[in-house]
Amino acid sequence: MNYQSSRGNSSFITAPHAIKMGIAPDGGLFVPDYVPEISKNVFFRMESWSYQERAAYILQSFLNEFSDKEIADCVYGAYNLDSFDDERIAPLLELYERVHIQELWHGPTSAFKDMALQMLPRLLSKSVRKTGENDEMLILVATSGDTGKAALEGFKDVGGIRIIVFFPDDGVSEVQKRQMISQEGQNVHVAAVKGNFDDAQTGVKRIFASKSFATVLSRKGIKMSSANSINWGRLLPQIVYYVSAYVDLKADGKMEQGEGINFVVPTGNFGNILAAYYAMKMGVPVNRLICAANANKVLTDFINTGIYDRKRKFEKTISPSMDILISSNLERLLFEITDHDAVRVSKWMEDLQREGNYKIDKDTLTKIQKIFWSDYCTDVDTMETIRSIWLNRRYLIDPHTAVAVNVYEKYLLNTGDKSPTVIVSTASPFKFGSSVARAILGEDFIKGKNEFEILEFLSDKTGIPIPEGIKGLDKREVRHKTVTDSDKMEETVLAFLGI
Ligand SMILES: *Cc1c(COP(=O)(O)O)cnc(C)c1O
Repeated sequence: MNYQSSRGNSSFITAPHAIKMGIAPDGGLFVPDYVPEISKNVFFRMESWSYQERAAYILQSFLNEFSDKEIADCVYGAYNLDSFDDERIAPLLELYERVHIQELWHGPTSAFKDMALQMLPRLLSKSVRKTGENDEMLILVATSGDTGKAALEGFKDVGGIRIIVFFPDDGVSEVQKRQMISQEGQNVHVAAVKGNFDDAQTGVKRIFASKSFATVLSRKGIKMSSANSINWGRLLPQIVYYVSAYVDLKADGKMEQGEGINFVVPTGNFGNILAAYYAMKMGVPVNRLICAANANKVLTDFINTGIYDRKRKFEKTISPSMDILISSNLERLLFEITDHDAVRVSKWMEDLQREGNYKIDKDTLTKIQKIFWSDYCTDVDTMETIRSIWLNRRYLIDPHTAVAVNVYEKYLLNTGDKSPTVIVSTASPFKFGSSVARAILGEDFIKGKNEFEILEFLSDKTGIPIPEGIKGLDKREVRHKTVTDSDKMEETVLAFLGI
């Protein structure tokens, strides 16, 4: 299978090249030239397959250059009981009749980024070899929280690859910081950047853009690459759990003949929900894809009006992983939904770059609205939703998942649609323990306690154990103590590499 740029100005390339390059040379995103369909017969057989077997089948159908053995190495290396604390990997549970939660946070960092970042490093490492590359790869990441730790866990001790993560000294939670500075692994480096996330991100972008810096590295046999969510190797593993959810519902007799599923996805960069769209193109019967946003509701406005406008105030919310105003992966949807019209997509992306907004035509908007539905949820409603789901169902959800539950309630009120529904849960409640404790116990209970005391307290009060990856973090050895100025990040990279 070949891959092309969503902006049409790059030649067709194979999957290993697309995964190695991450982003296309013309600034577009790599997209497969067709989407393979899963036959009825295979869907039926999948009912008795493990998550890993389902993953291997789906990955194989997009990655013809990989042998069965290579795919199996990747799948069983990524999804196993050393890194996941549930053998089902992405378990489904019933919240209400016909309404299910799919927990995507049983991986090492307790957030759904693990589903992709346990896989990407393995695909990348094999892709590098397949393209005849001899250089060592250097992954640079600027993180506002979840991605950094998930990338460190995914890339640790993967051959031929080194990873450096920069996080803003005053822009991540105490739990997130501790997770990163205690990271183990021979090939990992972590540095705090004095400043906020923008300072760290700008620094990393500057390094990527510097030709002279690339030359310095290249003389030492090192090439830079990125692990962010526009890499096809990150999107592909996310398709698996949507297919898997459908197969599980069917196997449990929860789908009537001719019914479609609603998937509800708490959305930021549009990667997760786009994977649901690809699952639909592979043959999963979808009724609606419900895009749940927080106060940064740029996608809700887009889906309801056809106008994407990032010129608005950035809101800091209690669902921080969705605090995004440029949802990069939307570009892939536009490319698919216009039947690969790279000219139109390029024009919209140019408008976005130049004017900060773009408007799609009526025909394209109608096509999007046939599949997608969107609304948003404020912080106050997020807290109320965590509280009511705990009181009514004795089920504890994190703020991102609460945004999805709340928007689904709005969808039900608006449409009365009772199709079987899967709400994806993107983080363990303990990953955002302070907000969750405040929501179900009240402000007075957490006053004067630090983040780690709050987690213990929350666990005591609810009887739910703290996930391994978060437990006892404050007592773990600190392995990374580097602090750098945002204008000294190049020097920090060279120092880490011993250049
Ligand atoms: C990254 C993230 C999201 C948003 O996912 P996108 O693929 O960026 O839309 C939602 N919830 C959590 C907990 C996340 O870490």
